[in-house]
Amino acid sequence: MTTDSHIQTGDWASENPEETFRRGEQVGTQLKGGEIILLDGPLGAGKTLFVKGLASALGIDADEVTSPSFTLVNPYTGRLPLFHIDLYRLDEGASAAHAVDLEELLSNERAVIVMEWAHRLGQYRLPKNVWRIDIKGDGDDRRVISIYQANPLISPNDN
Ligand code: ADP
Ligand code: MG
Repeated sequence: MTTDSHIQTGDWASENPEETFRRGEQVGTQLKGGEIILLDGPLGAGKTLFVKGLASALGIDADEVTSPSFTLVNPYTGRLPLFHIDLYRLDEGASAAHAVDLEELLSNERAVIVMEWAHRLGQYRLPKNVWRIDIKGDGDDRRVISIYQANPLISPNDN
């Protein structure tokens, strides 16, 4: 298996909402298609705002990007197809993957899948090209956005 590290990894501070949006944009410009991005962080951390930035870099209107916590999956079409998923309302485990029909979404090899509350996937096995983004901080605090490549053979719960 080749190691493909086209998304820059590391930790970034975000001092305000604009910086969170811009960090998302930065990742968006690096996408080639086929990435699975597991996004975690507390409620109000800025996960959806980050996805707005990412979507905007794909040529999708950021105002169209809204939280999928009720719809579960929001599809968008830009430079690449984007599926924005939120597992917040789902119970942990295979049923969460089933509820969003993850298998079907993964069959689209050009699609970018961005998932909020990704740890609710539990032990679900993902294909390669998996990235984790954790946002720490909430409220008026600064955020720290950590981006790293996940071992695709382990579940999102493992480090
Ligand atoms: P989540 O999807 O993680 O629940 P949202 O993206 O819906 O969070 O909301 C995040 C909130 O945090 C927004 O009000 C946004 O303006 C704010 N925010 C994002 N980044 C920062 C930051 N660096 N400093 C202060 N507020 C921020
Ligand atoms: Mg959200």
